[in-house]
Amino acid sequence: MTADCLFCRIVAGEIPATKVHEDDVVLAIRDINPQAPTHVLLMPRQHVASAADLSEADTPLLGRLFSAAADLARSEGLDGGWRLVVNVGPDGGQTVDHLHLHLLGGRRMHWPPG
Ligand code: 5GP
Ligand code: ZN
Repeated sequence: MTADCLFCRIVAGEIPATKVHEDDVVLAIRDINPQAPTHVLLMPRQHVASAADLSEADTPLLGRLFSAAADLARSEGLDGGWRLVVNVGPDGGQTVDHLHLHLLGGRRMHWPPG
């Protein structure tokens, strides 16, 4: 737990969030400012600042995050497809420095992203 980290505080239950999945490794919550009909944030319970800090030792963690995303896409009924986004650093548009996957779906996505 990193005391000044927003998502660590959500994991710890200090800040409320709408949880859609929780297990021993992963927490998934609805984004407070959704960019699509489904917009879920999947994060590890443990603090990892960004994807730039990942190493091969994090392979199991990433497997859990991705499989939880696929399970949620199914339970959200995103049968036509969906998108996972990981913003990294200021140029990548990252605003919360705790690793998270954006699961977006329920509308047609565009490419290239902004
Ligand atoms: P990033 O910009 O770091 O990739 O994504 C951070 C996301 O967290 C944004 O989509 C933003 O709307 C969301 N967010 C910021 N503060 C909160 C909050 O307090 N609760 C929830 N549920 N989402 C938040
Ligand atoms: Zn954190």
